[in-house]
Amino acid sequence: MSEIFDVVIIGAGPGGYVGAVRAAQLGLKTAIVEKDSTLGGTCLNVGCIPSKALLDSSEHFDMAKSHFSEHGVEVNSVGLNLPKMMERKEKIVKDLTKGVAYLMRKNKVTVFEGLGSLESPNMVVVAGSDGSKKTIETKNIVIATGSVPNSLPNLAFDGKQIISSTEALSLEKVPEHLIVVGGGVIGLELGSVWLRLGSKVSVVEFSDKICGGMDKQICDQMKRILEKQGFHFHMSTKVTGARLSKDSVSVTMESLSDGNVSSLEGDVVLVAAGRRPYTSGLGIDRLGIETDKAGRILVDDHLRAKKYPNVYAIGDCILDYACTRRRCGRYGDYCGQKRTCKLFNSAWNRLHLARGCFCWLYRRAVKRKRFSL
Ligand SMILES: Cc1cc2nc3c(=O)[nH]c(=O)nc-3n(C[C@H](O)[C@H](O)[C@H](O)COP(=O)(O)OP(=O)(O)OC[C@H]3O[C@@H](n4cnc5c(N)ncnc54)[C@H](O)[C@@H]3O)c2cc1C
Repeated sequence: MSEIFDVVIIGAGPGGYVGAVRAAQLGLKTAIVEKDSTLGGTCLNVGCIPSKALLDSSEHFDMAKSHFSEHGVEVNSVGLNLPKMMERKEKIVKDLTKGVAYLMRKNKVTVFEGLGSLESPNMVVVAGSDGSKKTIETKNIVIATGSVPNSLPNLAFDGKQIISSTEALSLEKVPEHLIVVGGGVIGLELGSVWLRLGSKVSVVEFSDKICGGMDKQICDQMKRILEKQGFHFHMSTKVTGARLSKDSVSVTMESLSDGNVSSLEGDVVLVAAGRRPYTSGLGIDRLGIETDKAGRILVDDHLRAKKYPNVYAIGDCILDYACTRRRCGRYGDYCGQKRTCKLFNSAWNRLHLARGCFCWLYRRAVKRKRFSL
């Protein structure tokens, strides 16, 4: 007789792996399905962790190059070894993803490598890259398939000159002029990395403020600080297209305030215009699991998909990412204890968690410029 799991989780990012550990700790027979060869999802592989590793390294470089002398520390020449910096980042990623694999083993979570989809509310099919197919029977399913970078219709990713955050974490050389489309946290964070390493960085932002939904006072202060560091901002400006040539890219844009049309010449364009839920190909439409227009799975206060009380969803596939971590930390409870998530659904919390997430960047900038909080 084939084994029946209590819970099968699709996706091994922070939503999936934290939940898997928690479910196993609560005594549930748990499996996790991951399409990539390493566990940890966006966060560990191409998100929070590598970006913070590069922020850390680039800050050391910038300090040594431009700020040590203020402290009376004289360094004759400071050089950049980008491959070495990338190697350090990759080692951090590797160590942490291996740590997640260890956690799975330690907690006796069965890991299936392959693309998961829902055959029924009690059946998950795992398609391996070798063409194999495996069907897993389960009492509960958790969808934790995360999100992918948004592309813009007139700026299709080519992975070289028009890139997403994933490629911006692994550039082989420092761009002379990096054009960042989108002044949200990811664009500013990666812009900071390359600015510190020597790029000119221009940010084109549709809105009249950076940092998305954050408090306007913080956004304005943040923008002033970043400008002092060398960022160039084109606010209330819409990118209308890009023309590629061998070594450069010309971005055309239109001011929303006066309709003025202009262009920027750069060598790399980072499109950081948000992320969209990764829910296609899961078979959820066939089962009638509802999503919103963006593709986010609609869930109730217990993170259950409407219509099926045993199908749950968590993380970026249900909401904007600022809230994810907090929810992920709590949702293991749902499998065994069914606690309510009302508190974390409220608008108040969305706002404050978003502010909290960004706080570290603000603090650092403030520290550098000797403002007080
Ligand atoms: C550059 C960058 C920096 C960031 N920095 C921060 C930060 O500082 N703080 C913060 O809180 N957040 C940050 N984030 C956001 C954070 O990474 C996400 O919110 C978080 O990873 C979401 O977790 P998740 O588990 O929902 O999805 P993900 O981490 O995206 O994981 C989903 C997993 O599911 C797998 N998957 C998808 N579909 C299937 C399928 N059908 N079958 C099997 N596997 C599947 C994917 O391969 C992936 O491994 C950052 C993101 C980026 C891109």
